[in-house]
Amino acid sequence: MQKLIKIQITLNQELCISCGVCSALHSKAFEPDSKTNKYKVTPKYQVIKVTQQELEQLQQVAQACPVQAIKIKIIKNGNVN
Ligand code: SF4
Repeated sequence: MQKLIKIQITLNQELCISCGVCSALHSKAFEPDSKTNKYKVTPKYQVIKVTQQELEQLQQVAQACPVQAIKIKIIKNGNVN
């Protein structure tokens, strides 16, 4: 069984400056929010089980955000089913 890590991704729209970097780097996880003209986490990625490699990709996106609006919280690290 592949080891999966359950994570929660949040994006603080009060900080977001709508630069689009997050969506450009990972369009499955981040998309424009037409209601606020900011960006948001896609529904699928708000709470998701990912591989270590996917987690590292998402952490790189969070680091690339110029205003540190994206947070990734590890809910459970192990063989999540
Ligand atoms: S990278 Fe940060 S500031 Fe830019 S759109 Fe995404 S959340 Fe907003």
